[in-house]
This record gives sequence, C-alpha cells and structure tokens, in this order.
Amino acid sequence: MKINIKIILVFLCFAACKQVQNLSDKFTKPSGKQVIESTFKDNDTLSKKFEDVYEQAKNNNLELVLPSVIYTKSDSLDFSILSYKIFLEKGERLKIETNIDSDSLQFASDIYSVLNDTLVSKNSIVSNEASLNHLNFEVFKTGYYKIVMFSEFTKKVDFNISVYTEPVFLFPVAGKGNKDIQSYWGAVRSGGKRKHEGIDIFAKRGTPVIASVDGFVATAKNSGLGGKQIWLKSGLFGKTLYYAHLDSITTSAGAYVKLGDTLGFVGNTGNAKGASPHLHFGIYNSSGAINPLAFVKKSYLPNSIEEKVFKNGITKLTKNELRIGSGVAYKKIETFTENTPITILGKIDNWFHIKYADNIEGFMHESLVAENI
Ligand SMILES: [Zn+2]
Repeated sequence: MKINIKIILVFLCFAACKQVQNLSDKFTKPSGKQVIESTFKDNDTLSKKFEDVYEQAKNNNLELVLPSVIYTKSDSLDFSILSYKIFLEKGERLKIETNIDSDSLQFASDIYSVLNDTLVSKNSIVSNEASLNHLNFEVFKTGYYKIVMFSEFTKKVDFNISVYTEPVFLFPVAGKGNKDIQSYWGAVRSGGKRKHEGIDIFAKRGTPVIASVDGFVATAKNSGLGGKQIWLKSGLFGKTLYYAHLDSITTSAGAYVKLGDTLGFVGNTGNAKGASPHLHFGIYNSSGAINPLAFVKKSYLPNSIEEKVFKNGITKLTKNELRIGSGVAYKKIETFTENTPITILGKIDNWFHIKYADNIEGFMHESLVAENI
C-alpha cells in the first residue's frame, strides 16, 4: 500500500489544529445558556426561579420523535423551557435550528446524555454557541438523550425550532436513496456461516459510486469476495469505508478524494457474480465492522409553516387527556376536567405542549384546547 507522506502531514496538521481550535472555543465562546443567565445574574430571586424551572424541565418525562418542528414563543420572564427525551444513533448528526438570529432573540439549547431514564451527568455534553442560534451534534453513542431549549425571557417573539438528524456521510450511490437499500447489517450469509457486515444498495450497472467523505484511497483492487473494491479512509484516525462489487474503478490507491467524487461504477464483481448489480457498502473502525446504515441513511425535515401559538389556554371537553408525546399512542399522564386553565409552551403538529400548575407538563390535542382570553 502506497501512502503519500504529504497527505499524512496534511491530515496530522488538520487534526491537531482542529483540536486546539475546539479547546480554545470552550474557554472563549460563551454558550446560549450562559448569555441568557447573565442577564439576570444580579437578581437572586430570578436566578433561583430560572434554576428551578430548568431543573424541572430537564427531568420531565416528555418524548419527541425526530424530525419535529416546534412552534413556540418567548414571553417576558415566564421562564418557559422545552425539554424532551430523544433517541439518536451513532452515525447521525443532530441538528437544532431556529428561524431567528441571535441578534433578534438569543436561543439556548443543551444536550444531556441519558441512561436508564436518568441523566448521566448534571452537566450538558454540548450546548450551542451564543452567537449561533443552532446546534450540531455528532452522535458518538447510540441511545437516549435529553434536549433542553429556551430563549431569552425579556422579549415577546414568535419563533420555531426544527429538531432533526442528518447522516454524517453522503449516500454512496449517486441518485439513489433509502428504498434502494435492500439488504441490511446482520442478514444471514453463506447458509448461516457468517453475517452481512454492511448494506447492499441496488442500482443499474454503471451508476456512479461516490466518496461519502473527504479522504484518501487506501486500497483499490480486484480480489476475493468483494471483487473490484475500494477502501476509503476518512482521515488518519478515522473510519474506513468499504465499497465492493464495482463494475470498474476510476481512482487508485493513494489518491486524495473529495466528498461526492466518483470512485467507480456499480457492478456485480466478486461473489456478487450472477446477482443484480449492487454496491456492498461497509464501515470499519479500529475494532472491526460497524453497522453503516445510520451513517448514510437519508433523513427528511417536515415543511415548517408559519404558525403562532397563544400563551393561555383552557380545556374544552369534559375529559381532556394529557400524554407524554404528540400522538395518541403515547402514554397518558392524566385527564383534566373542563375549564382547566393551562399554559401553552409550544405546539408540535396538532398537539400543544402544555404546563399546568407550575409542575405538570404534557401534550394535549388541539381539539381539546381553546384560547383563554
Ligand atoms: Zn453486501
């Protein structure tokens, strides 16, 4: 295997510089939460109230399925804080975005790690930078997380928050998508003697196979089960991406490729001979093959429409059910009687995220709620 020393130096420098940058960011750039907290730091009563509301929201049991758009509003010193448990997979990047910039309204988002329904640490694992009203988080471990979101409390502004994921890598076959993946990780192979250590993406012979990441080609050869194959390394200490059964290869070992570059074309070489042309795609880290699906599976964001929510609501029916998520399949928390005054914190699809009596939170369908004027 031929490795270009210049490429190694570039990668080393890049990795080192990036780490120093990340470290210095930690010390110099305040988070959205820090900036908002600083606005009432001299007022002990408000600071204490904020801390209490934040802790209570952080430990609620509400759930959110991604992608979601939350319509909400900031209001004077009402300390409305949104917090939800979400499920994330290694290979995904979580994105939290608002439709408003930090000069108009400071927004804060914090992410906590959850294990067995309990927060792993009292400190967040990542928070948005104050000057940016959005947050990107590359998931390092599959599991549950808790997101906590709020905006500065002294302005009256309607805004929305999009919470969604995207794959860390680009889909490896040009013009193809999730429905073209027809064999998954763990499927039985060789009559049960081994398991499928990747995914198969079906496409017409000759469809371009593309670089899912910037990196260098460690190996490009024709041999064994994989046939015409490429091993693409994402940085010196990164993962290795495996492309197999190609009809032909248009790159060579040692080449540095950029995201989206064509590496070759879909075929059925190696042990795929006789089968329909497809790309076998795998990802390897230092301990071996890992499930590549979440790294490339395309995700979608629902269209956000302009919607305003009112602040004060009242229940309409004789029985008004409160649930832990925005759907009838979610567990019921309790049932409110008619004319119960509630506070609206936000809206997701047709469901209000409501709060009652300072300590009960949940989702209630919009048909059960009227504005309380
Ligand atoms: Zn395969």
